[in-house]
Amino acid sequence: MTGDGTRAVRAGLPEPEAFEPALPGPVFAAHYHLPGDAAGPYTYGRDTNPTWTHLERAIGELESPGSTAHTVAFASGMAAISAVLFSQLRSGDAVVLPSDGYQLLPAVRTRLESYGIEVRTAPTAQDAQLDVLDGARLLWIETPSNPGLDVCDVRRLADEAHRRGALVAVDNTLATPLGQRPLDLGADFSVASGTKALTGHGDVLLGYVSTRDAALVDAVRQWRKTVGAIPGPMESWLAHRSLATLALRVRQQSAGALALATALADRPEVTGLRHPGLPTDPAHSLAVRQMRPGHFGSVVSFTLPDKAHAERFLAALTLVDDATSFGGVRSTAERRARWGGDAVPEGFIRFSVGIEDPDDLIADVLRALDTANADKANTAADAGNAS
Ligand SMILES: *Cc1c(COP(=O)(O)O)cnc(C)c1O
Repeated sequence: MTGDGTRAVRAGLPEPEAFEPALPGPVFAAHYHLPGDAAGPYTYGRDTNPTWTHLERAIGELESPGSTAHTVAFASGMAAISAVLFSQLRSGDAVVLPSDGYQLLPAVRTRLESYGIEVRTAPTAQDAQLDVLDGARLLWIETPSNPGLDVCDVRRLADEAHRRGALVAVDNTLATPLGQRPLDLGADFSVASGTKALTGHGDVLLGYVSTRDAALVDAVRQWRKTVGAIPGPMESWLAHRSLATLALRVRQQSAGALALATALADRPEVTGLRHPGLPTDPAHSLAVRQMRPGHFGSVVSFTLPDKAHAERFLAALTLVDDATSFGGVRSTAERRARWGGDAVPEGFIRFSVGIEDPDDLIADVLRALDTANADKANTAADAGNAS
């Protein structure tokens, strides 16, 4: 029995070799010495790379401790998502996507439909995707969903999908493999953007697909080779190096996010507060059953009265960058409606808690909320004076 933190620091490391580093440096190679027959393991840089091998083993160990999972790393989360969808679906197939998932899924939908694939959508909450599953070839789940933080029952959906002959893929970006193990819950694929909490420093784009099925991994690997959406050796190495601190980071982020959500719950101007770790959250009991204790993710979402209020709040923060993405060591927040992609109110804030001391962060947030309220009062007074 090995703890997640222990597993994370050792994951994917090669056997110790005298006078070699614990984690070998990035291998920059477009091609390798290849005398005679074109047999692997390393032949051409779009097919294989030793730095990927170490990282892919590491992620496989985290996604599936105790039973072998194959992992394929990609240049981004979208490359990984596309690899599963486009390697598995054919013209005439049907696929079920979440209606409240990652903001690029509508663009993916358009692309799938242009290839003659039927796309059905339903919300994440209440396992609503079950209602449109009949006859589908693939069920795509995102839980907790981004940015609304709804949760669905992966085990229930996977069992039901398999009963009806569909494959199941889970976007595990928000939870990370330390927060949730989709393959243990019955999914065929665990897919994620490593750009977020997995690498956690906001300096790498990466994605991966993990599966226990050898035929499925072959199809995904063949897709990567064909499309060429390969991760760079430097990015792969940085990602592997970052995994050593994954447990520290996600525990701290999750604890900070719960503390922040608890503080926000008392604020009258905050509505629609969501965080799966919050005992009053509608998704909490399911999250407790399916996610790992104290690992409910870095994201807190909530809504301020309007766009101007949200913008005053974001401008008044000093420890939190107004930036997109989440899961980084430095806290970020953004007014999500500025992208126009998600069905969220104008004042909706997606807040990603970093690894700062929670007390400092909460003090900054409460002060910024006060500033946003006071500025509103001043604006109203000015308007009153003018009339
Ligand atoms: C960011 C994100 C993606 C896309 O990942 P990239 O690395 O930006 O391509 C996919 N799914 C979720 C849930 C995400 O948050």
